[in-house]
Amino acid sequence: MYRFNSANKNKFLYNNKFSVDLYSLQFSQASYKDFVIEDKFLEDIGNSLVSFDKTYPVRIEFTATNAKLGYYLKGNISYKLASHCSRCLENLSEKVQKSQFTAFFVDEIDKNNDCGVYKLYGNVANLEPIIFDTIGLSIDYSPICSEDCKGLCAFCGINLNANSKHKC
Ligand SMILES: [Zn+2]
Ligand SMILES: [Zn+2]
Repeated sequence: MYRFNSANKNKFLYNNKFSVDLYSLQFSQASYKDFVIEDKFLEDIGNSLVSFDKTYPVRIEFTATNAKLGYYLKGNISYKLASHCSRCLENLSEKVQKSQFTAFFVDEIDKNNDCGVYKLYGNVANLEPIIFDTIGLSIDYSPICSEDCKGLCAFCGINLNANSKHKC
C-alpha cells in the first residue's frame, strides 16, 4: 500500500499529467467539478501472474468537491491487466477493468493517516498514488480460465485441459 509517509515518499512527481489544480473550485458557484484524464501510467503493479498493462492508457474520471478542510474526490479508473490462469498458466484475454475510488486531499497528513487520504500541494492533487493504490488493491491474484480448469500435471507440468487422458 502506497503512503506519502513511507519510503516511497518521492516515488511520484507532484507535477505530472495526472496532477490537477483544484484552485478554481474555491471560487466557482458549484462546489464540485468533473474531470477526465487519460494517459499512459508507467508504474509496475502486480506480479508475474497478473500485472498492470503499461502499454494501454489509464483513464481516470472523477468529481472533485471542495470540502472546506480539503478536496474530496470520487470516481473510477479504467485500465487493462495482463493475466494468466493461476491453475494452467494460459494467457487470459485482456479486458478493460473499471475500479472505483474515493480520496480526500488535505494540506497536512499525519503519520498514521488512513488509506485514502493524500497530501495536497497548494491546490494541486497528484492522482498517481490513487491510481497505484486503486489498481493494486483491485487485482485478483487468482484468476482462472474457467471454473473447471484442470490445471497442470503436478509431476510433469503438462496442461491437463488439452490432455484430458494424461497420466503420470
Ligand atoms: Zn486454466
Ligand atoms: Zn504428467
